[in-house]
Amino acid sequence: MIPVKGYDGAKVGVLGLGRSGLATARALIAGGAAALLWDDSPEARAKAEAEGFTLTDLSRQSALEGLAALIVSPGIPHLYPNPNKIIAQAFAAGLPVDNDIGLFFRSYASEDWESFDITPRVICVTGSNGKSTTTALIHHILEAAGRPTQMAGNIGRGVLDIDPAQEGEVVVLELSSYQTDLARSLTPDIAVFTNLSPDHLDRHHGMGGYFAAKRRLFAEGGPDRAIIGVDEMEGHFLANQMSEGAADDRVIRISSGQKLESFGWSVFARKGFLSEWRKGRQVASIDLRTVPGLPGAHNHQNACAAYAATRALGIAPKMIEGAMHSFGGLPHRSQLVGERAGVRFINDSKATNVDSAAKALQAFPKIRWIAGGLGKEGGIAALTPFLGSVVKAYLIGHSARDFALQLGDSPHEICETMTQAVARAAAEAEVGDVVLLAPAAASFDQYPNFEKRGEDFMAQVRSVLG
Ligand code: ADP
Repeated sequence: MIPVKGYDGAKVGVLGLGRSGLATARALIAGGAAALLWDDSPEARAKAEAEGFTLTDLSRQSALEGLAALIVSPGIPHLYPNPNKIIAQAFAAGLPVDNDIGLFFRSYASEDWESFDITPRVICVTGSNGKSTTTALIHHILEAAGRPTQMAGNIGRGVLDIDPAQEGEVVVLELSSYQTDLARSLTPDIAVFTNLSPDHLDRHHGMGGYFAAKRRLFAEGGPDRAIIGVDEMEGHFLANQMSEGAADDRVIRISSGQKLESFGWSVFARKGFLSEWRKGRQVASIDLRTVPGLPGAHNHQNACAAYAATRALGIAPKMIEGAMHSFGGLPHRSQLVGERAGVRFINDSKATNVDSAAKALQAFPKIRWIAGGLGKEGGIAALTPFLGSVVKAYLIGHSARDFALQLGDSPHEICETMTQAVARAAAEAEVGDVVLLAPAAASFDQYPNFEKRGEDFMAQVRSVLG
């Protein structure tokens, strides 16, 4: 645990008592603060009480008086579509509102660091898609290279739950736009921006607010090294702002698809090959086509980002290449679940938005596509250009009928449930087909989360495969 600094003897409100909220409360208490805990949900409150915490109703009038700060969980809206009432009251009263990420950055460095030869460093990864894969891959490469490393944030552990720093350690954090939007302190040594596509627009009041939230990772003081995906104009804009000119190697530009040969430092993937270029010359290359855990051009973008981050720490290309080969991939992201008679079954339940589903549809040639759930704004209209690889769609969930209308003449069938969809797709699949779950929708109509949806898919596949 990282005890929180700066609130010794003070009262601090903690709003939201999920995994990160409870970790925050423990870390505040360890730092000498009195933590006042609250959650609007009775279940979350009961769970906190069961863990021995006492609760304080922060929604009561004057409950915020005397607090030094209010720490909130990422799932709670602080501005859009409507601010949570308690947070709105804190803003109006001038009470500093922060989150666990902000507390981490003010608390991670300790007196021990004075005796370290190699200072610990923090890498933060943000972007619309590929954050978890990139974060896990960076962590995996560091482990393979024998560097002390811990991974946290939006993946695995809450950030205040990690162990105090060791000499030369690298902490790898996955950060969502909700987290970067609110953190009062954001000072990574290396910051990674993978890509940008519309998501969570209600929470950020549109694309501009969404990009502004992610950009904060690069704005507050600025990292020593910025790794920026330039496959969208926002990435070009950010890279441009962060560098003195094309030759400035503070920025490492990355791309899946574009040649980037005229910059101070760049890493890009084309036709399955990753290349690193410095000052107009290629310095290393990796054949990604034979890397089993990173299929598809989208994963090659993640490979470029992780390669750049670990190269920036001085790890050798050969070491990185070896580590990529032993990366198993993450569950629910392009995960191979089984194979029978030349038909592969792939679980990409994490494809909750149109962009990630588009990437999955481009990663395989002949697809029996299981899609649907709680559809997002615009449905799947934006996927029309990627339907060429789809042999047939099997539609489930709340959005099944809407998606069917948008598919028009493309072959499709309404299956309602996962059980039905997997059974139908498996029965109709031919040699060379991929049965792909890439829902392009949230899971909450039929499941508590995308993990449970993916697990259901896997269970159905297993029962079909026998
Ligand atoms: P995040 O943590 O940003 O949600 P994940 O690594 O969990 O990213 O991947 C989320 C979804 O997006 C999965 O469906 C995955 O296959 C897909 N995906 C992974 N990397 C990328 C990328 N670079 N671009 C687009 N989609 C991606």
